Amino acid sequence: MKKAIVFGAGGFIGSHLVRRLKAEGYWVRGVDLKQPAFSATAADEFVVGDLRDRALVDKVIDRGIDELYQLAADMGGAGYLFSGDNDAAVMHNSAQINLHTVELALERGVGKVFFSSSACIYPKYNQLNPDDPKCAEDSAYPADPDSEYGWEKLFAERLYLAFHKNHGLNIRLARFHNVFGPEGPWQGGKEKAPAALCRKVAEGKDQIEIWGDGLQTRSFLYIDDCLDGVRALMHSTFIGPVNIGSEEMISINDYAGMIADIAGKSLKINNIPGPQGVRGRNSDNRLALEKIGWNPKMTLREGTERLYNWIVAEIAKT
Ligand code: NAD
Repeated sequence: MKKAIVFGAGGFIGSHLVRRLKAEGYWVRGVDLKQPAFSATAADEFVVGDLRDRALVDKVIDRGIDELYQLAADMGGAGYLFSGDNDAAVMHNSAQINLHTVELALERGVGKVFFSSSACIYPKYNQLNPDDPKCAEDSAYPADPDSEYGWEKLFAERLYLAFHKNHGLNIRLARFHNVFGPEGPWQGGKEKAPAALCRKVAEGKDQIEIWGDGLQTRSFLYIDDCLDGVRALMHSTFIGPVNIGSEEMISINDYAGMIADIAGKSLKINNIPGPQGVRGRNSDNRLALEKIGWNPKMTLREGTERLYNWIVAEIAKT
């Protein structure tokens, strides 16, 4: 039986990934500061602990591990990452986790190490035009991410690549673009646009507030497609970095309109000042298709219907 460790197994993508690995027959150890928020972990063993602590990383990475997925990061949506208030924590916490991970994964001979980087590494200057953002993998340099979160991810990518080059650590690097779906944060400040918009629409009476002019564009990837991409990358010989995102770009105002339509509501959109990140961002999946044979299957509308229904059920529980 293959053995995997998932760092960040209490988080949104990590908890879904643990379930996927279990369904594929793996033995899984999850590690996180906290248990998953919305359902019990599927992991065989779940260690609650702080991965900034080298002693913990030393303890949880033992010999005989086939795959390690490093998803733990100090992270959140635009309200958390782009306000600037959390920059020191975001950089310091995540860098510490990654430094311990490469060191101990190498020492314990982990078979393959997956690292989740982000579309936030792409330079601001290529994302000024909301109708034509550029996010091909080779456009990352000269670097100019619009957040310290993006700079830390870029540093971490380079750290994993350096351990690969100098020590032969077997790595896989993915750049996730806005992953969404049920069982992710939907209130409290760490939620991202899809969940925040679904909540606002579900709770909205006659109007909803949208940060910025709403003309900023994004694409959103459904969680099941994300996991397919992660597994395709792990099965391939390509080390990346490779985009794992959707190419179905939409403006935030239009997305709010789509969600209102799903809800069967007529709501006025009230655009207010707020953190919004780059003007435009969309995945570019040419390399993913060529190197790992992956492209997402779910439409934005289908995925959002699932998220919306889940959030309505969560609201009903409160
Ligand atoms: P998440 O915040 O739900 O999960 C991250 C998990 O890491 C959390 O459960 C958190 O408790 C844990 N963690 C943070 N610091 C820790 C520490 N010191 N010790 C132990 N655990 C710690 O985020 P997610 O959406 O599941 O994202 C997973 C990964 O994918 C992250 O690295 C994130 O940066 C990356 N990513 C996500 C997206 C997205 O749209 N969700 C986009 C790009 C990149």
